[in-house]
Amino acid sequence: MPTTKCKDIIDYWVRREDECGLSVDWAEAHERCWRCGYKSVLHRCHIIPDSMGGPDEPSNLVLLCNRCHREAPNVNDPRFMWIWIRAYGTSFYDTFWWIRGYEEFEKMFKRKPFANVDTQSISQEDIKAAMQIAIQSATIHFGEGRMNPATIACVLYQVEEAFLNKGT
Ligand SMILES: [Zn+2]
Repeated sequence: MPTTKCKDIIDYWVRREDECGLSVDWAEAHERCWRCGYKSVLHRCHIIPDSMGGPDEPSNLVLLCNRCHREAPNVNDPRFMWIWIRAYGTSFYDTFWWIRGYEEFEKMFKRKPFANVDTQSISQEDIKAAMQIAIQSATIHFGEGRMNPATIACVLYQVEEAFLNKGT
């Protein structure tokens, strides 16, 4: 039975890892994922996997959202977890998965989003309105709570398209 409480895990890491460069402020470590920084139901994620004998102790656990938990490294070597978490540090909350969406867009369409749109001439309100319409064609995987990067990439493409059609 898992016995280590989230509070014990936080207390342990607050004293050992600098919050500078992380996606989460330590003050909110109990409700935001340590890798993506989004408000989420947090899972206790083993650094050395349970199945490889990793102990149920604060030193071997971090708190991650469902999606980050699935993407985390599963290796019998404790050096990598924090390198991985830090590699994705973002300065602002609720941007992480949109940054991933932009990267996914570049992968799919071989260019940056909005490269062919004159963004100077579009107001924030117009962007928001186009986003609302595009989001209606998207859905969220059960239990995820938010759009995944590929879905965001498609939504961005549709928003772009809306502006291109308007311009012609
Ligand atoms: Zn996360």
